[in-house]
Amino acid sequence: MNFELNKITRANVEALQPYSSARDEYKSDGSEMVFLDANENPFENGVNRYPDPQQRDLKSVLAEPKGVLPENILLGNGSDEVLDLLFRAFCEPHVDNIVTLPPTYGMYNVLSGINTVENRKVLLTDTFQPDVKEILKVVDEHTKLIFLCSPNNPTGNGFDEDRIKGLLEAFNGLLVIDEAYIDFSPRKSWVGRLSDFPNLVVTQTLSKAYGLAGIRLGLCLASTEIISVLNKIKPPYNVNGLTQSRALERVLAQEAVTSEVANILTEREKLRTALLTVSFVDMLYPTEANFILVKVDDADLRYAQLLHKGIVIRNRSTQPLCQNTLRFTVGTASENKKLIRALKELSDA
Ligand SMILES: *Cc1c(COP(=O)(O)O)cnc(C)c1O
Repeated sequence: MNFELNKITRANVEALQPYSSARDEYKSDGSEMVFLDANENPFENGVNRYPDPQQRDLKSVLAEPKGVLPENILLGNGSDEVLDLLFRAFCEPHVDNIVTLPPTYGMYNVLSGINTVENRKVLLTDTFQPDVKEILKVVDEHTKLIFLCSPNNPTGNGFDEDRIKGLLEAFNGLLVIDEAYIDFSPRKSWVGRLSDFPNLVVTQTLSKAYGLAGIRLGLCLASTEIISVLNKIKPPYNVNGLTQSRALERVLAQEAVTSEVANILTEREKLRTALLTVSFVDMLYPTEANFILVKVDDADLRYAQLLHKGIVIRNRSTQPLCQNTLRFTVGTASENKKLIRALKELSDA
């Protein structure tokens, strides 16, 4: 490997002096200070002050369970913002390109369009694994990012360690592993390997297992060098104060998260068992996430029938390799019961 971060960083970003906000320059050390620096309204209401632009308290509680230093973390307004920052830091519009592996999460392609960066698509294999040889064939000196989603959305499976390792060793840009569903998977996070691979970037989110999709908090975990580059270009107050405090509370309540995840996994297995008995279900794909991808006889028809019964799922049939597939998110026990009853009615009809 021949990875050099300054070779892949955009020249304008390399040259950039980040905006220094008032709250950046001085943060209260707990002593009685008078803050007349940021043109805020001084009347206390809980959120009258600008939030900490570096989210120091939140990062310090996240660092331990993630097994990294706070300097290895960048937080964003959802992982979507984190992914966008990666494009803006490393991909020159009209010049550079990225590689994605359909069928996968739609945001990578949307962001490539927004940033005018070519998206070179290499289909997953028929078992939904990265095709390392084909990926390396389309990579050139302008390929800055490869996006791997593991466990993958919408297929649900995790990617083989050896394939990911092969890419990390052969690629001189950044390999971004989107671990939005890692807390549902028996696999180890790649965060533990950050010090082995300087070109590894892991993204995670509080939107799925942590149950906080509404507050928008995404994580980027990478070397301190990569995080420093991203810190230069992030909007200073991209993570608002309410989000920081709710996220902090939740991360400290780790047992509640763990028990909800356990519940979802139990429910997922019940749902799998039920789906196997449905007459129009052709197969279930293996899953390490909080959803199940299912092949059916006629996805459009079954989608419409479930909708008619008041149940909204996702029809993934337009995705390559996903003809006639439906994606079911695992709900609460009572929601899943309603789904199973509806499936049974349709199955018997
Ligand atoms: C849901 C999901 C996310 C989460 O995005 P947020 O912006 O953090 O809510 C990220 N990646 C994948 C693959 C997802 O399915």
